[in-house]
Amino acid sequence: MYKNTEEYMRRSWAEVDLDVLVNNYRIYREHLPEPAEIMAVVKANAYGHGSRPAANALQDAGVRHFAVASLQEAVKLREYGIRGEILILGYTSPAGCATLMEYDIVQALVSEEHAEAMAAAAAGLAGNGRGPLKCHFAIDTGMNRIGLDAEDPEHCAEVLRRFSSCPDISLCGIFTHLCTADTDDEESVAFTLRQRQLFDGVRQAASDLDLPECHCLNSAGGLTFPANEDAYVRLGIILYGLKPDYSNVLPEGIRPVLEWKSTVALVKTLRPGETVGYGRTFRADREMKVATIPTGYADGYSRALSNRGYVLIRGKRAKVVGRVCMDQMMVDVTGIPDVRMGDQVVLLGRSGDEYLSADDMAQMTGTIGYELVCDISGRVLRIYKGSGK
Ligand SMILES: *Cc1c(COP(=O)(O)O)cnc(C)c1O
Repeated sequence: MYKNTEEYMRRSWAEVDLDVLVNNYRIYREHLPEPAEIMAVVKANAYGHGSRPAANALQDAGVRHFAVASLQEAVKLREYGIRGEILILGYTSPAGCATLMEYDIVQALVSEEHAEAMAAAAAGLAGNGRGPLKCHFAIDTGMNRIGLDAEDPEHCAEVLRRFSSCPDISLCGIFTHLCTADTDDEESVAFTLRQRQLFDGVRQAASDLDLPECHCLNSAGGLTFPANEDAYVRLGIILYGLKPDYSNVLPEGIRPVLEWKSTVALVKTLRPGETVGYGRTFRADREMKVATIPTGYADGYSRALSNRGYVLIRGKRAKVVGRVCMDQMMVDVTGIPDVRMGDQVVLLGRSGDEYLSADDMAQMTGTIGYELVCDISGRVLRIYKGSGK
């Protein structure tokens, strides 16, 4: 394998600061309305930050619970040396049952039908010396994504009892997901309170089971609502220093963990009337200087930022001109003196007095910081700073 990372660095790379990650975790914990454990959500390669270094830094900082979205992500965490609880938050095929048991992964049950299929698969593996299959049942409190319908707590309790007494399944908890905890208008707050009430209703109806791990709070919910008897808060986006919703104000000291950088490949002068890029969507109305940057949509730089986004060079903003190409893009550096080949380009992060966050960039195309960082592709080298300690 080609190992000279210096060479890759000069194209498009992300600097991920593990000290900032761990610091965000600590600050977030201090801001909880009451002390609670944290489950670190490291799905989607830790929201694009790299699940191996992120999860290990958090484990070293004391985190004992992790959540992912898929069996593959869960197995990778074990292989990376993660020892605590690993919960898969969504559907896994019954065909994955043996692997779940082998790697001691906790699986969400998304419906009665799913639970039955998982129980049958687990029963088929009984005697392998590993089972039973550890599970948390999802409860639907209004998001209409996964889980038993909390509007009928008695039915939920009956289903939970049935699977609790199933020898091939070890039902350790229930959880729900809040879908509007990040907004503070009256209607959203009322809806969130209703979700919490519905969840508590199910918990009470099944109180005879003494399920040790009940949980309902995400990043946004954890800052607003006390964890009550919840086992932990499932902390995702704020861990990475980004906002659940653009309107949120994060606790003082929480900062984005990732900066994305590239480099100037060349600078050229455009004569008035010349056009830039595919489809000729940008036309120079005067003499201009344009820099070509070796980062494009295949690196995760959204094509929707064509003629809209900007990057930072020498502490100044340079607007994207023309369409973002697959591997390159062009930016206007007319107003920035002395730009030349090899200059650093900040796609996300700080340059001089200017700061461009994933949340800001996401606003330009009507998406959210979550999607933006998840989209930074595998071609962008991740460089880690700090030990997380
Ligand atoms: C992704 C996810 C989270 C984390 O949400 P954030 O808003 O990133 O904190 C929590 N719970 C579930 C079920 C999720 O799918």
